[in-house]
Amino acid sequence: MTQISAGTPLSEIMARLRATVASGRTRSYSWRRGQLDALAALLEEREADLSRALFSDLRKPPVEAWTAEIGFTASEAAFAARRLRRWMRPRRVRTPLALQPGSSTIVPEPLGVALIISAWNYPLQLALSPLIGALAAGNAAVVKPSELAPNTSQVLADLLPLYLDTEAVAVVQGAVPETTALLAQRWDKIFYTGNGRVGRIVAAAAARNLTPVTLELGGKSPCIVDADVDMAVAARRIVWGKFLNAGQTCVAPDYVLVHRDREVELVAALGEAVRALFGEAPQQSRDYARIVSNRHFDRLAGMIAGSAGNGAVAVGGGTDPTDRFIAPTVLTGVRPDAPIMGEEIFGPILPVLAVDDIDAAIAFVNKGDKPLALYLFSRSARNQRRVLAETSSGSAVINDTVLQLASPHLPFGGVGESGFGAYHGRHGFESFSHLRAVLRKPTWMDLALRYPPYTKGKFKWIRRFM
Ligand code: NAD
Repeated sequence: MTQISAGTPLSEIMARLRATVASGRTRSYSWRRGQLDALAALLEEREADLSRALFSDLRKPPVEAWTAEIGFTASEAAFAARRLRRWMRPRRVRTPLALQPGSSTIVPEPLGVALIISAWNYPLQLALSPLIGALAAGNAAVVKPSELAPNTSQVLADLLPLYLDTEAVAVVQGAVPETTALLAQRWDKIFYTGNGRVGRIVAAAAARNLTPVTLELGGKSPCIVDADVDMAVAARRIVWGKFLNAGQTCVAPDYVLVHRDREVELVAALGEAVRALFGEAPQQSRDYARIVSNRHFDRLAGMIAGSAGNGAVAVGGGTDPTDRFIAPTVLTGVRPDAPIMGEEIFGPILPVLAVDDIDAAIAFVNKGDKPLALYLFSRSARNQRRVLAETSSGSAVINDTVLQLASPHLPFGGVGESGFGAYHGRHGFESFSHLRAVLRKPTWMDLALRYPPYTKGKFKWIRRFM
């Protein structure tokens, strides 16, 4: 029997959650609404505890802790609560003539017990935002926060039981062995956020029980800068999206492809924007986060130290292992085959590559895996249309970065190597629901036409109706 850190055997947790689902309690509007309101209350009342945990894990600036985690998740819970009745309502759809008389509806129903495995970079948002979808859809859930953000993991384990239905929601802390034990269980839904290597392990575990799975993965999200942009605004928006959370954002621009004519200007504007946002000494800035672990620090510092192969440092480049600080860094002269272009950077290092035109940019993007996000700065309607039509990515933003994930109206998810399935807003609700097709037929009419023995005459009528 697997012992979980809190001491409750996993089999006991599973039995408890399964019994709650079987009781039907989680299906009612009032239970779901109550859980969403309780989660919103937790986020409001415990903001200080949560913010402190995020600061301890990532030195996350309190403003970012609020905008990207605590406030973000609270407004998502409120959004779901306000729309819950509408989302739950069976949706009436048309019934074709051949099926008349009759009526058709799509009825969302809970899947059952869900497993949510989350990553460390937005450790609160990535654990609670899927949970909002799971609860809104009437499921029980186990949340497995990332062990690389141990303070946030602990605060979630402490606080969720104080606010949510403990018969329906459990937090299981731990690393690979605990997650492996969780994946050995039978789930009705698995929702995973993290890297693609582990994503494959999760998908394989889900396949054993034909469990539906959502994989929120990463990749190298390109940012294309066209020849006609307002450079100061473009640079500021790129710098903000890239260096938010010290570059540890799944949808951060990974690298920039800039029109050759504007490369020098862009690099200068990036440098200016870094200074404007973080000052001359970013290590002293209260608004700049730290790298999550020594392993990631070494990996990123190696990218800068080895920048002979990766290009030249044009902005930043400083590192401090005692503080796990890596300065906002821009690299130029990066070759397309440089090591840094072979993996997701996931840190505050931005390679800039010059391209001849929009065709070259599109071709470059299409040579790689389908990214989680794609950014294009361009005034040209034609180039905007072309980039959207000729590339694929989980999401795309014209003339800004990262903000797409703040809209609860837009699905958030990847495609290809960046994952599959989506959430946020209604998409989160549907991700944890089964959309059951229901056809209702009366018995007062029962045409002989559909039944054998078939005759030529019947066939003629069947063809006419279908
Ligand atoms: P991580 O190390 O926190 O791992 C994610 C989860 O997987 C953790 O809960 C961890 O315990 C679990 N895990 C790790 N190894 C495992 C194994 N062998 N078996 C089972 N479970 C295991 O996070 P990470 O993978 O470093 O996250 C970074 C990646 O996640 C990046 O690629 C990033 O782009 C991506 N990401 C994607 C999103 C998104 O929403 N699409 C959000 C954040 C991060």
